[in-house]
Amino acid sequence: MTGEADQANDDAPQAATVAALLRDPGLPPLETRILLAHVLGWTRTQLITRDRDPLGPATVAAFSALRARRLAGEPIAYLTGTREFFGLTLSVSPAVLIPRPETELLVELALARLAGITAPRVLDLGTGSGAIALAIAHACPSAHVTALDRSAEALDVARANAAQLDLLGPADNPRVHFVASDWYAALDAQSGITAPFDVIVSNPPYIVAGDPHLSQGDLRHEPVDALTDHADGLSALRRIVAGAPSRLRAGGWLLCEHGYDQAAAVRDLCLAANFADVFSAHDLAGIERTTGGRRV
Ligand code: GLN
Repeated sequence: MTGEADQANDDAPQAATVAALLRDPGLPPLETRILLAHVLGWTRTQLITRDRDPLGPATVAAFSALRARRLAGEPIAYLTGTREFFGLTLSVSPAVLIPRPETELLVELALARLAGITAPRVLDLGTGSGAIALAIAHACPSAHVTALDRSAEALDVARANAAQLDLLGPADNPRVHFVASDWYAALDAQSGITAPFDVIVSNPPYIVAGDPHLSQGDLRHEPVDALTDHADGLSALRRIVAGAPSRLRAGGWLLCEHGYDQAAAVRDLCLAANFADVFSAHDLAGIERTTGGRRV
């Protein structure tokens, strides 16, 4: 009885229980757990309490397919179709960047500057999955958030996330607007969505062209235009900073995420655009990750 299972292909899951699949030498146990919870629709607790329940062949086949894709390098978030960000469960697809924990810093900095403003207006440039825009809308129910992206596919993902999270608001007074736009280009032409904003936020593509990380790990599977400007890493940030003063109300804030070594350069861009109170904030890894300034 034991022989048959033991002689199965070394590389394949050996027996159809959670406990057995967790002995998989190919994947880290955490990743096996995430994929199994997804396939089974079980909680982390059920994976523990039911770890000896026999699993059906369809479950095993579905898990094996995801396991093979993970071993081939696809990011876990694209396999499960979801990622947590700022306490929200967001749908993600390969059309959008997978939200990163360090980007929660940008949300926190924005929320701190929105506090006390009645019905603040927020602009998120390059919204992708909608992570930043929707986290702000969720935490600040009086805010009106405009979420821009050049990619129609990304806007579809962001819009679906807003609907799923019940953040669209009433049709005659939406909490979140979606606009197809190359940075500010279409914004000014879009009826009903005009400057000024109280806060402009962006996590633009900032990785330098040719950075080896672009061809390693999960990044290989993410939309390249969301990661790199195909130039020196600062070209999107230059456009965003240069266009911000004319779209912010006096006293309004611009906040941008950037690469680990770009803080001084982005502060210089902000100073050159006459921003006051220019600062950079550190992420939990101690890296200067977000830079901002106040329009005078
Ligand atoms: N933070 C991402 C990374 O380094 C890059 C995201 C971006 O370019 N905005 O993987």
